[in-house]
Amino acid sequence: MTSTPLWYPTDKCFVSGEWVAPKGAETLPATDPSTGREIARIARGRAADIDAAVAAAESARDGNWGRMPAFERGRILARMGQIVLDHVEDLAQIEAQDVGKPLTQARNDALALARYLEFYAGAADKVMGETIPYLQGYTVYTLREPHGVTGHIVPWNYPMQIIGRSVGAALAMGNACVLKPAEEACLTALAFADIAREAGLPAGALNVVPGLGEEAGAALSSHPGIQHISFTGSVATGALIQTAAAQNIVPVTLELGGKSPQLVFDDADLDTALPFLVNAGIQNAGQTCSASSRILVQRGVYERVCQMMAARYRELVVAPALDDRDVGPLISARQKEIVEGFLKAADPARILARAHLVDNLPEGGHYVAPALYGGVDPDDPLAQAEIFGPVQALIPFEDEEDAVRIANGTQYGLVASVWTHDGARQLRLAKRLRAGQVFINNYGAGGGVELPFGGVGKSGHGREKGFEALYGFSVLKTVAARHG
Ligand code: NAD
Repeated sequence: MTSTPLWYPTDKCFVSGEWVAPKGAETLPATDPSTGREIARIARGRAADIDAAVAAAESARDGNWGRMPAFERGRILARMGQIVLDHVEDLAQIEAQDVGKPLTQARNDALALARYLEFYAGAADKVMGETIPYLQGYTVYTLREPHGVTGHIVPWNYPMQIIGRSVGAALAMGNACVLKPAEEACLTALAFADIAREAGLPAGALNVVPGLGEEAGAALSSHPGIQHISFTGSVATGALIQTAAAQNIVPVTLELGGKSPQLVFDDADLDTALPFLVNAGIQNAGQTCSASSRILVQRGVYERVCQMMAARYRELVVAPALDDRDVGPLISARQKEIVEGFLKAADPARILARAHLVDNLPEGGHYVAPALYGGVDPDDPLAQAEIFGPVQALIPFEDEEDAVRIANGTQYGLVASVWTHDGARQLRLAKRLRAGQVFINNYGAGGGVELPFGGVGKSGHGREKGFEALYGFSVLKTVAARHG
């Protein structure tokens, strides 16, 4: 390790490069989902704190940050990426305790955050406009400019990754950001502010205001000083944010989850597919927007896939995050209640396997044993609702037409995958599946810093990740010069 230790007061907001108490001097508890115990107090930011953060961002936009050459922004992001790499273990420990995800998964999130910062560091000075042939006597070209002040409302399931893809890209384009992390898990967002400060990000270019969604979040999404909102979370909250942004005629990027299918055909390599089929459902205890919660299997291999997945489920171990087993707790008692509601309503005859919980789990933890269901009807809630827990539904299909009908038969369209060696079928399905990403003989679970990501339908709109995100965080200006 070469950097200084991370330092951030958990009960403060980060505004204009300073740690400041929330104006209402109130705090909220941060709890460890593995134990239910309080691990810190966090700031309860409200509208007045958002006002201060937006004002700080406006000063940065109009000051040094707004005038900084793109390559210098890139250098700062590169330093941030290096500091993240220097602190991967610290960040993984914080995230494991705050979100309840097994340490290895939290470590991967920290590494992904570093990759986002590296990617956008390199991309910052490579966003270019074009020249457009026009009338005689004119020169016309386009400029890609930052929106100005961007708002970022992130959820609790992947704080580091979502901050990396959203704030990382926005900063690379030269926006000044106001980040509202989730009240359930905001500690790595605060650590990120410290990393930005240490890397030399100018004051006000990044501001972090923790708080409740209906207070700080609502104040941010309706703030007239914000020129773009990026949101990841539930459909219901996404609709509120889009409505609020519409009052200010501000563009939004919404990433709202899904019910992503994997399609397994008779000719698939089942041994290769198995870990992808299961991991995409149980990673982060199924609390993943791109979780694959529907496994569609052709009749010829259906029984075999059921047996293989059920055997794997019986081996899965659920334990506290720091024990670093396969699956940790859910984020909260509320999330556990939602998931258990689906399990209680499901037909018990359809259950194929449950994972097991280790003995002596802490009483206050929010544990749910992953559940695998078979023979699920495509219209069943298990096959339609985003449960956001470790629950997967196996659905048999007859042929390609049947598979496409079932796969496209939900209100979502985030990710899909196809397991087959038939090349023509791969190409046909890549076109026909309604999803923002289609994987062939693999499943990315939203991974891939370089790969544009986002949904159709109720999964949202706009693209994050990859180079595409830089276009989303910028505005195109056309310049037409008449020179005769
Ligand atoms: P949520 O969408 O309400 O919260 C996500 C973020 O939005 C948090 O930062 C929250 O503070 C903020 N927020 C909440 N209300 C707001 C408002 N009125 N205005 C502005 N911001 C607001 O999600 P949740 O309540 O934590 O979880 C509920 C369900 O949402 C889950 O069961 C799951 O189905 C879904 N979810 C999806 C994702 C995803 O990655 N797509 C992430 C989290 C939750």
